[in-house]
Amino acid sequence: MTRTMVVGGGIVGASAAFRMADSGNEVVLVDKHDPGHATAAGAGIIAPGTSMRTLPAFYPFAADAVRYYPELVARLAELGAGDTRYDVVGKLFVATNNEEFERLPAIQQMMEQRRQEGMPNLGATRMVSAEEARSMFPALGEVAGAIHVPEAARVDGGSVRDAMVAGARTLGATILQGNARLLRAADDGAVIEVEGTTHSVDRVIVAAGSWTNTFLEPIGVSVHVAPQKGQIMHIEMGETDTSRWPIIGTFGDQYILTFGPNRVVCGATRETGSGYDLRTTPGGLQSVTNAALRVAPGLANGTVEEVRVGLRPLSDDGLPFIGEVEGHGSVVVATGHGPSGLQLGPWSGAIAAELALGRQPSSDISAFRPGR
Ligand SMILES: Cc1cc2nc3c(=O)[nH]c(=O)nc-3n(C[C@H](O)[C@H](O)[C@H](O)COP(=O)(O)OP(=O)(O)OC[C@H]3O[C@@H](n4cnc5c(N)ncnc54)[C@H](O)[C@@H]3O)c2cc1C
Repeated sequence: MTRTMVVGGGIVGASAAFRMADSGNEVVLVDKHDPGHATAAGAGIIAPGTSMRTLPAFYPFAADAVRYYPELVARLAELGAGDTRYDVVGKLFVATNNEEFERLPAIQQMMEQRRQEGMPNLGATRMVSAEEARSMFPALGEVAGAIHVPEAARVDGGSVRDAMVAGARTLGATILQGNARLLRAADDGAVIEVEGTTHSVDRVIVAAGSWTNTFLEPIGVSVHVAPQKGQIMHIEMGETDTSRWPIIGTFGDQYILTFGPNRVVCGATRETGSGYDLRTTPGGLQSVTNAALRVAPGLANGTVEEVRVGLRPLSDDGLPFIGEVEGHGSVVVATGHGPSGLQLGPWSGAIAAELALGRQPSSDISAFRPGR
């Protein structure tokens, strides 16, 4: 049996701890609940096949990650670990003007090609008129048309994280709250202090999000990850049932998704170089509000319930870091998921658990080496 400590209880660390516990191994999960951790602020769009990112290594891993979700959700349900709020609601990729409309066929073709190459959770995409798009998402304005992606999904980051932590606890994991400090790490083990108690473990999985380098500093290691602030607005729509409205994607970074019974989430700023700034700013609210109302003016009279601020752990090349730290083989890093951590995170955590157990990873992670 391998004794492992997981540092960081966001979606990545919670998943690693859950997988360790679910495979019968001893695991301690430590989290210090930093305000601004990304998982609870994240929107929750699970649709990598609709992404415009030009990173070849992202897609095969994302396909595995998306395939894992239904399996994970079913296992958590079996354990009675709580509702993840994972749901397949589809997505509308919207053109707001004629110039964008003319580009839709090429984008649909790109999605279809990905589907043929094995990307799950797209389904049979098709072009829909503005009227049909509005029948699915009544708050839409005068858009030019859209691509409908029937199998895109959403999840609530905080809920799936909590369910994985609850599941891990049920399976015997120890859950600690506090700050973990790395005292020593070699190839055959690591020593970590948590709030005055020292733990000697075989492996440590570092899933500390934007705080990863602070944890690694004592062993003189760092990865190219930095916080990227995101401000995201939650609106409530009174008596309107938004629970089956599809996700809205656009040609820009902005998007809209919904949760039942009447919540609409409009996101989000991408403030690269923000540091650990957690303020809600007029400029941030303006950009999120303008982008949302431009596409969906029917949201204008909703009630702004909250604005969440989260720090995405952003790598400098857009790919995550998953793997052992060279020269410190007991340390496995899993971070740097940037804007895609809710899609990739559960699978990344599962892969980190495989590495900690000395197993061959089930996905190709050669592009994600922490030392790159
Ligand atoms: C506004 C916004 C919208 C987003 N939308 C999406 C989306 O639609 N789809 C998508 O896929 N992704 C989305 N993301 C990205 C996603 O939320 C993140 O990539 C993901 O949550 C990162 O998870 P994590 O576990 O790596 O980090 P975090 O959730 O930040 O968790 C790290 C945890 O580690 C803890 N920690 C750190 N250091 C220590 C220590 N020394 N001891 C103990 N605990 C420690 C912290 O307290 C924290 O709880 C969004 C993010 C934001 C901010």
